[in-house]
Amino acid sequence: MSCLSETIAQSDPALQVLIDKIKATASLGMLILAAWQLGRAVGVKVVEEVLNERGQAPDDGGVCGQCGRKLESKGQKPREMVTLLGVVKWRRRVRGCRGGCGQGQVAPTDEALGLHPSQRTSLEVKWLACALAVFVPFEIAAVLFELLTGIKVSSKSIWGWVQERGQVAMEQLNSQLAVLEQEVLPAEDVLTSATQVLPLLIGADGVMAPFRPTAGSRQGKTVWREVKVGVLARLGERITRTGKRVPYLSQRRLVAVLGDIEAFGARLWLASIQQGLLSSPHVVWLSDGGQGFWRLFDERFATYATGVLDFYHAAQNLWKGSKSWLDGRTQRARNWFVKARRRLRRGKTNKVLADIEAALDLEGLPPGAHQSLTNLYNYLDKHRDHIDYAKFKKSGLPIGSGIVESACKWLIQQRFKGVGMRWSEDGFNHLLHLRLAWVNGRFDDLFPLNVPPN
Ligand SMILES: [Zn+2]
Repeated sequence: MSCLSETIAQSDPALQVLIDKIKATASLGMLILAAWQLGRAVGVKVVEEVLNERGQAPDDGGVCGQCGRKLESKGQKPREMVTLLGVVKWRRRVRGCRGGCGQGQVAPTDEALGLHPSQRTSLEVKWLACALAVFVPFEIAAVLFELLTGIKVSSKSIWGWVQERGQVAMEQLNSQLAVLEQEVLPAEDVLTSATQVLPLLIGADGVMAPFRPTAGSRQGKTVWREVKVGVLARLGERITRTGKRVPYLSQRRLVAVLGDIEAFGARLWLASIQQGLLSSPHVVWLSDGGQGFWRLFDERFATYATGVLDFYHAAQNLWKGSKSWLDGRTQRARNWFVKARRRLRRGKTNKVLADIEAALDLEGLPPGAHQSLTNLYNYLDKHRDHIDYAKFKKSGLPIGSGIVESACKWLIQQRFKGVGMRWSEDGFNHLLHLRLAWVNGRFDDLFPLNVPPN
């Protein structure tokens, strides 16, 4: 037997079994898996040694938080924790107040380790499990977790940690929103000088998600509720190998809320300022026809941003108008639509509007067609500044909001709309905020693994 294996076995005879297991394997794959088990077991032993040592080291005793009297030692007591290596057990000194104050016993070394009195799972376990749960259902997260670490955790535990950390994320956001409400501006994210000069793109979209009809019950029909999602990104352009220019998004940030347009507006505004709305050379607002989002644009963003109405959405409305007007004469409707669409694309908005006006003057126009043509006219007229597509194209701006919609849809679709999934409002919100933290690069902030030394 090699020197190292011997030493390991001598230090703890229980490890001999694991070393024997390694030796008995044939294939390299099985050999590595067996060695991995040994590695973890050795890791646990080393950690336990360190923790026992710390738990017994002399301390200054500390004073009672309530009466100020010096705490007296109540001896060594056991502590147990589920960690990424497995269950770790150690003993550490606990102290209590002689005066019998209500605060119970304290373990100074627990505090130094960043542990709460009732904590049973170490934070790195929650961190990894929550990261998995950001992407896959809780049951699958539990299976993957065991595959990756060899540690068994239940899907229910993972669900609980998501609730706990999601709550932390929501509280952090709420306090940022409260500060902004006092008109104290948040700091802008630091960007590279190359990114700083790129246009800031802001877009919003609504995505439906399935909910339980009544809190705490699995009964009843699914209720679909809208989640408002916003995306902020710097719009870059790269050249492909074939020399084609294609747009790409960098510094992508998402905001989302299960709530009304006011709640959404506050979050989007906060993120916009963090993303450099006030210092960016060019800001573009890109959206389809959703009324609420354009109202939000008018109220908060119009001063800073160029608004672009999604071209395909505008074209769709042209088609609806032409169909109702030229009902039954499909070829004529088609021709009119193709012409109008081309004009719109080339920025000849006035001509398109004049065409609609002329159609409205036609004698014998049925009332239904009159109404839909009027709607079309008003719609294009209202968005006159937002449909100057020729100009937008020339300045390199996107005219389709697909880039916005796919980012928004991904956030919700990928995780919340699996087969048979239905959410409670709290459960949804907690996971949503963990996902947002992940995509926005703030996930690790929710798991303060670095305890400052005291
Ligand atoms: Zn006391």
